[in-house]
Amino acid sequence: MNNLEILYRQVIMDHYKNPRNKGLLNDNGYKTIHIKNPTCGDDITVQSLIEDGIVKDVRYDGTGCSICCSSASVMSETLIGKKKEDAKKIAETYINMLTNKEYDETVDLEEAVVYQGVQKFPARIKCASIAWKAFEGTLESE
Ligand code: ZN
Repeated sequence: MNNLEILYRQVIMDHYKNPRNKGLLNDNGYKTIHIKNPTCGDDITVQSLIEDGIVKDVRYDGTGCSICCSSASVMSETLIGKKKEDAKKIAETYINMLTNKEYDETVDLEEAVVYQGVQKFPARIKCASIAWKAFEGTLESE
């Protein structure tokens, strides 16, 4: 591993061990989406609270591998406080990056960039993307 990969791994393990914004809230203002990834056993629920076009909160809960759980935590920190349109763009860009599609490199993925290496491991792409897909789902259900 090169230094960058070691740093990325540290970020992932930190979010796995010290999850941010974990735990669902019982609040009607939140949109909730549940997604499972049967190939790995990842099972995750994501909530978002959008007010005045701003992502006020992102919560999640569930079980899964380190890639899945940490990416949900990184996602929550990356997206909270963003304009809804910007959050949508970041999620879309992140998923395109993971799946090796063309993506807009001018979009700042912040810490989520640490999952770039996952594209080399096709079996893990779903792990790294399901929380983000669930978030996109919460926006659509508005
Ligand atoms: Zn997984």
